[in-house]
Amino acid sequence: MSMCEYCDTNESQVLKRVTVTRQRHGQWYIFEDVPALVCPHCGHRYFDAEVLEAMESRMRDMPADARAVTAYAISLSEKTA
Ligand SMILES: [Zn+2]
Repeated sequence: MSMCEYCDTNESQVLKRVTVTRQRHGQWYIFEDVPALVCPHCGHRYFDAEVLEAMESRMRDMPADARAVTAYAISLSEKTA
């Protein structure tokens, strides 16, 4: 297993199931149980090309078991100037 591209750890990445958010044309999508290799040092997440394509295809063609959720979008622009 390769080392992390984003930090200098020599710890091996760990296979986990993670939650991923994506945005397309103003619409947010939340993907659950996404397989990722995660760096135990910096937390960077690596996804296989086929996993990325699986998310893309489901944003184009919504699965029947997708659940609509309500979310709050909160800007910190005035607090972080
Ligand atoms: Zn790392």
